Amino acid sequence: MSKKKFRFDERVLEHIKPTVRAMQPYTVAGGQFAAIKLNQNENPFDFPANLKLEILNQFYSENWNRYPDVFPNLATEKIAAFLGVPAEAVIVGNGSNELIYTIFFATLSRGSRVLIPSPTFLYYEKVADIMEAEVIKVAMTASLTFDVAAILEEALRSQPRILVLSTPNNPTSKSMTFAEIEEIASQVKSLVVVDEAYIEFSRERSALELIYEHPNVIILRTLSKAFSLAGVRLGYLVANPTLAAELLKPKIPFATNRLAELVAVKILENYELVEQSVKIILAERDRVFAALQAMPNLNVHESDTNFFIVEVASPGDVFESLKAKNILVRNVSSYPMMEKCLRIGVGTAAENDALLTALKERLS
Ligand code: PMP
Repeated sequence: MSKKKFRFDERVLEHIKPTVRAMQPYTVAGGQFAAIKLNQNENPFDFPANLKLEILNQFYSENWNRYPDVFPNLATEKIAAFLGVPAEAVIVGNGSNELIYTIFFATLSRGSRVLIPSPTFLYYEKVADIMEAEVIKVAMTASLTFDVAAILEEALRSQPRILVLSTPNNPTSKSMTFAEIEEIASQVKSLVVVDEAYIEFSRERSALELIYEHPNVIILRTLSKAFSLAGVRLGYLVANPTLAAELLKPKIPFATNRLAELVAVKILENYELVEQSVKIILAERDRVFAALQAMPNLNVHESDTNFFIVEVASPGDVFESLKAKNILVRNVSSYPMMEKCLRIGVGTAAENDALLTALKERLS
């Protein structure tokens, strides 16, 4: 590496937006690597090796020197057919994070209002800050469920440009019902972004069909959770085609790479694999829930996702004692209303057993 020194002048930072300077960089608190990794709500089952090879063979035979489609038409059409909606209603992105960025880019100016329940997925607030928007938060109830009446009231009062509902919600693991989302979508004038990152694990019905009656509804999905594809980076949104055409305009061209597109197409052709892993994860969720309920000095919340919220007296200490055993969970105690909480993903049966043994030892 070059030994050249960087000269720095603080004045260059005056060109960075104050909202950006005030931000913290995106990190995964606690790290990303461990033998038993239950900290990022991923699917514990990897994409099947034989399908990986088929995709790599196809990718190998293509021209890497050529650009892919500006927007990945093949994946868009496959996803649309899978959902039973027109392709014009679907936008594919480089993970749903990119689509959150795109939606906010298309809609928010300085001072625009964004309404989010709190606590929720942190990225919404982060992107709103970059756009110098005003974030209005509505607290969850004491039991961490959505306060639907308060959200509706605040949305009608403050008339935000966007209302974001992560349902089921990360990190609380609770959902809104279809009827509640429908009620909100029909009463408010705001765009209603329904982030369904965890919908495959939910007992509630998807809000997808609301896009027909409600032109303000945007459904956001990801292949990072149930579809075992967090490393591939693919998400999509579904909305009224006229709205989707506008949202597409500020999107970064070529942001979805060809390999990700091929992977998406392959998993949709083998959707039964997703269903099988979801089935196993849901059975494990039931088993782990019962074991956590029986555990002393711990309170577990019923989960509508592939992760649990547990309350313990000293979450930082429990986090560290699990980490010492190579079990990585997420310490979410810095989130509002979650001072005693850890977030723990549902893993394989063996991983869950190791977790339960370690927790029992620590808490008994
Ligand atoms: N929305 C929610 C609610 C999430 O929890 C996550 C990932 N943690 C995302 C979106 C982002 O997912 P992706 O990997 O598709 O960018």
